[in-house]
Amino acid sequence: MLKTIQRQSAAAVLRPLRTRFASPSIFYGAEVQRRGLATETEHDVVVIGGGPGGYVAAIKAAQLGLKTACVEKRGALGGTCLNVGCIPSKSLLNNSHIYHQIKHDISHRGIEVDNVTLNLQQMMAAKDKSVKGLTSGIETLFKQNGVQYVKGTGTIVNENEVKVQPLEGSEEISLKTKNIIIATGSEATPFKGLEIDEKKVVTSTGAIALEKVPKKMVVIGGGIIGLEMGSVWSRLGAEVTVVEFLGAIGGPGMDADIAKTTQRILQKQGIKFKTATKVLSGDASGEGVKLEIENVKNQKTDTLEADVVLVAIGRRPYTEGLGLENVGIEKDERGRIIIDQEYRTKHSNIRVIGDVTFGAMLAHKAEEEGIAAAEYISKGYGHVNYGAIPSVMYTHPEVAWVGQTEQEVKQSGKEYVVGTFPFLANSRAKTNLDTDGLVKFIADKETDRVLGIHIIGAGAGEMIAEGVLAIEYGASSEDIARTSHAHPTLSEAFKEAAMATCGKAIHA
Ligand SMILES: Cc1cc2nc3c(=O)[nH]c(=O)nc-3n(C[C@H](O)[C@H](O)[C@H](O)COP(=O)(O)OP(=O)(O)OC[C@H]3O[C@@H](n4cnc5c(N)ncnc54)[C@H](O)[C@@H]3O)c2cc1C
Repeated sequence: MLKTIQRQSAAAVLRPLRTRFASPSIFYGAEVQRRGLATETEHDVVVIGGGPGGYVAAIKAAQLGLKTACVEKRGALGGTCLNVGCIPSKSLLNNSHIYHQIKHDISHRGIEVDNVTLNLQQMMAAKDKSVKGLTSGIETLFKQNGVQYVKGTGTIVNENEVKVQPLEGSEEISLKTKNIIIATGSEATPFKGLEIDEKKVVTSTGAIALEKVPKKMVVIGGGIIGLEMGSVWSRLGAEVTVVEFLGAIGGPGMDADIAKTTQRILQKQGIKFKTATKVLSGDASGEGVKLEIENVKNQKTDTLEADVVLVAIGRRPYTEGLGLENVGIEKDERGRIIIDQEYRTKHSNIRVIGDVTFGAMLAHKAEEEGIAAAEYISKGYGHVNYGAIPSVMYTHPEVAWVGQTEQEVKQSGKEYVVGTFPFLANSRAKTNLDTDGLVKFIADKETDRVLGIHIIGAGAGEMIAEGVLAIEYGASSEDIARTSHAHPTLSEAFKEAAMATCGKAIHA
């Protein structure tokens, strides 16, 4: 009770301050300092990085009554995700899919369209419009919630001070604070020997902004980002080859059966794959790019030529200029900032969330951590269920999963049951003439508790939400099998896969 009263009164004190500084002037911290109001610049929380982790942490902290600032150096909020990641890539995936469908998958539906042409500039403009709308929307949310937005590069000076080199002007800003949340995200891992120019040799940032459709594109890395961007340019007319070092595509989180099915379907769409293949070296000195490749099984070498090479071999934590050395904060061998289960570094008031630390590099994982970190600061407790974080690949069909893969369950030694249901047997998929894919459940043999759900199919990214809830609530496959699903919907395939797990499906 006492705690509540204290928190309410703190909020009541902060509210008039927030209203006073909710002015268009973004650098209100600097203004306050210049006016010599040093005590008012003392923050409860300073968040460094305005991506999904950082901006969500800042909003949540402010909602919890903490005086909060968020420092972002990009000139726009939303981080990698909104500016050069999730959002622009999904815009291109959606619109390239529509283009491809109209061109190749429409006459048998009774729709005749002539002279379908690509206006790449307009497609890029549509993408930029979505990005602009969403990033400026976060600025509005900051104003509404009373978060101070500081545009510039943040460096930790000591446990209670962040120095900001502003984007505009040269006068450094000093933010005094009780707590710091580091949310500086990640950057594309470079490929040794191939210099990124974002024109011929590109990361995903260049791949979402190409000015023309390349004739030939090679994607180094068959993970989610490589397959999504490879799909975009393949649909728009490029001849795409994906080179993957491992024997399967999709990365470590994708179930092996699903990865195989995905590769088969994408191959049918025209993407070529060279799995178990290593890129030895690259030469971008000519008009195009030449890659020396080697089959890792028989060491046979070959050459690949491309107009554009996309380097998509993963992402690494980003901490440049952050000043970790000033406070002796340590990183592991992969550059991830070391934290405990409450996101604390060796300094208990400096916490770290999102891509720059452990765990899946996903926007929604960073967001959950942002909320939990703010709650730890404000209330002393927070919660993220890492066993129930979904992954989605937005190709067509989409691939989505939550929980463990069959390989992981097998390795754990647990006895398990698998149930699957193909979209070919689902009435809505048949009606939509879009039947590629399946739903796969893995459940504990003894208890029937759902351990993993893996879907490849149209709309899998939406459907997986039901699986996430199932895992979050500890559902059994029978719980789902006995739950009514609307007819005709794709989600009936979800129910039928659950039925196949605890008994028998009806329609297969
Ligand atoms: C092409 C692509 C597609 C993706 N698609 C998806 C998807 O569909 N779904 C999904 O969940 N995830 C996706 N991701 C991953 C997702 O973008 C990241 O997991 C997410 O952005 C991580 O959020 P974050 O807040 O940790 O870091 P970031 O989003 O990287 O944000 C960190 C921010 O901190 C800023 N910063 C860094 N250092 C400083 C400093 N010293 N001072 C001030 N600011 C600083 C950076 O400018 C940046 O804006 C994709 C990524 C890429 C590249």
